Amino acid sequence: MQYIYLFGYPLGHSISPAMQNAALVARHIRATRYVKNPLPPEKMREMILALRAPHCLGANVTVPHKQTIMPHLDELTELAREIGAVNTILKKDGKLIGDNTDAYGFLQALRVRKIRPQNACVAIIGAGGAAAAAAYALAQNGAREIILLNRTLARSIELADRLNKRFPEMELAVNDWDALTRMHLLINATSVGMAPKTDESPLPPRYTISRSAVVFDLVYNPPATKFLRDAKLRGARVIGGLEMLVYQGARAFELWTEQRAPIQVMRRAASKALREMQEHPRGA
Ligand code: NAP
Repeated sequence: MQYIYLFGYPLGHSISPAMQNAALVARHIRATRYVKNPLPPEKMREMILALRAPHCLGANVTVPHKQTIMPHLDELTELAREIGAVNTILKKDGKLIGDNTDAYGFLQALRVRKIRPQNACVAIIGAGGAAAAAAYALAQNGAREIILLNRTLARSIELADRLNKRFPEMELAVNDWDALTRMHLLINATSVGMAPKTDESPLPPRYTISRSAVVFDLVYNPPATKFLRDAKLRGARVIGGLEMLVYQGARAFELWTEQRAPIQVMRRAASKALREMQEHPRGA
């Protein structure tokens, strides 16, 4: 039996095992299982040992390890280095390779709704790994302007500096909340609004969303966050985080197995797992 691990802490909320195991079964890959391996930050050595074991095929990495695992890997893809975060680990010739599929998942979630990043003016709330992946995906695909809005100013400045070096032609601003109303695309890349604190929004109450905006919340539990519910009431178009989760997982599946990901199977399994988690939150 081979294992693909999900490392993070805590992991009770994750629906990735349901989604990835459904994909493995659909592709008749019976000797591989995707399993949660909840390890706190002080167990980094244990994580690396598990990754290097012969029965390990690869891994996903989530909060709080996406950045801290990077120096322990043998190689990083250019994308992971540029984003500054790893969410997928592959093994090639015994080497641990850190990659990032969040940027792809984010872009696909826009593409399936025919939303083009070219020339877009975008506000991203957050400055962590998911915000960096979204910002890189947008910048690489021709966004005109990105405003980074984050609770910790130093973190958004650091991300803006990195983006500015790589994409000097793109307009960038930090914590200019007043510019929100003229943005085409508003993204929540923070964990604010995630279950169980579903009555919170990352948008301070004095700011209103334009009805012509597209509002994308990377949080997928609940499917309709307060941020999205408010945006919908204003008449804006809304996108939840589930589609991104499915596409980032599909890309990772293809990297590990070298087989085409069964997207519909993964979407169905993820939606079912999410519904069950909402119906029985204590079991999560
Ligand atoms: P991260 O690197 O830990 O970053 C967390 C971000 O949330 C930071 O910007 C942090 O601000 C902000 N934040 C946390 N609590 C806050 C609060 N109470 N008030 C204001 N800001 C707060 O995590 P991440 O990997 O970027 O993930 C962020 C979110 O995206 C999570 O909800 C995650 O589930 C979601 N996500 C979804 C997908 C998907 O496929 N749908 C993929 C990746 C991530 P500070 O810098 O001030 O701490």
